[in-house]
Amino acid sequence: MSLRDKLLKRVFGHESFKNYQEQAVEAILQKRDLITILPTGGGKSLCYQLPSLMMDGVTIVISPLIALMQDQVYALKKNGIKAEMINSSQDFNEIQGITARLLANDIKLLYIAPERLSANGFVELLKRVEINFFVVDEAHCVSEWGHEFRADYRNLSMLKEIFSNVSIAAFTATATHKVQEDIVKTLKLSNALSLRAKTLRENLTISSQQRLGNGRAQLLDFISKHKSKCGVIYAFSRKDVEAVAGFLKTKGYKVGAYHAGFSSEVRERVYKEFIYEEVDIIVATIAFGMGIDKSNIRFVVHMSMPKTVENYYQEIGRAGRDGLSAETLLLYSKGDDLKMRSFIDVLENKEYKELLYNKLKKMYSYANSSECRHKLIAKYFDDEIDSCEDVCDNCRRGSVEKVDITTEAQKLLS
Ligand code: ADP
Ligand code: MG
Ligand code: ZN
Repeated sequence: MSLRDKLLKRVFGHESFKNYQEQAVEAILQKRDLITILPTGGGKSLCYQLPSLMMDGVTIVISPLIALMQDQVYALKKNGIKAEMINSSQDFNEIQGITARLLANDIKLLYIAPERLSANGFVELLKRVEINFFVVDEAHCVSEWGHEFRADYRNLSMLKEIFSNVSIAAFTATATHKVQEDIVKTLKLSNALSLRAKTLRENLTISSQQRLGNGRAQLLDFISKHKSKCGVIYAFSRKDVEAVAGFLKTKGYKVGAYHAGFSSEVRERVYKEFIYEEVDIIVATIAFGMGIDKSNIRFVVHMSMPKTVENYYQEIGRAGRDGLSAETLLLYSKGDDLKMRSFIDVLENKEYKELLYNKLKKMYSYANSSECRHKLIAKYFDDEIDSCEDVCDNCRRGSVEKVDITTEAQKLLS
């Protein structure tokens, strides 16, 4: 067995590569620039973690959120891999210690936030170490066309300007072709290998319904099918979160509430309770987002409509990361659409407003559509797939009608 396959088994505990992982690993080992678009839960981390163990220097991973870094570094250390991070949550001594180990080539993966690169002396420090390659995780943050643009990510164009011989591997779950082009251009990738997975998540059954009243009857109906399974319910406002959480508690569900109005201690505690399954359900605003690494989420419900399909796809994508089946429900109304519009109305930049109106319009027409939902999502991301046949409400409805017609026909014939 090759070293690569041994590491896959012994260090990461996986029997085989998932889609595109092998190609990504090989490209990185060949020091080729790379852009990889794999769905949430697709196993992007392994694509850069594994080759890092086969190289002599340090891999620099740029990641947008401290919580994301912490999870990854923690998981790597647990597997005996020398991973560290440098961010604003650490004190001077801690950073000094890591710097010393970095210079002694005693770190395999170093996670940093993009703004670290503009910190005093950091680039100089990097010039003194052997860098395997750069990883730009959540690379859609580079693009203003994406849904999570971060100004600090724009500055990553400096990587190729300063470290022209070091390859870059960019990863994201959601990028239209336009965003993908933007990433390649901004990061100045050259002759990059592009690995783009199909958008279809076959294990997700997705559905969308007009919300009746506050939607609680529909919610109860849906979650009663998932008794004592783990799920996430997204609500629009902090007030809604608390109301829905309170309501579910009175119905006997084990529920935690999560939104940005709670202190970070409370949020941390609620997150842990969910991870360790002391509660089954989290009711949250979208503050409960990127970086949730719980593989057995069996359902995701939206109590109201997200503002873009990108957001929606990311959020439902948190279900079923273990590959087992999971179910999602979107409850929406025309009122949601109008409310979201009113938020855009007050913005200044005309071009940006147009972009947001357009995204909102697409979200609403998705919610309201009677076509295959997997196909609609794929189309949104410039991907073309066949109808799912049986893992979305619209296809299921279609096949029920077909069955009914057959029964009718049989009756006529008999
Ligand atoms: P992403 O960053 O693409 O959302 P992660 O890298 O966090 O996904 O991986 C998602 C899950 O898939 C993790 O629990 C990880 O252990 C698992 N995983 C990754 N690669 C494989 C593999 N080759 N076989 C089985 N499970 C895998
Ligand atoms: Mg990831
Ligand atoms: Zn379908």
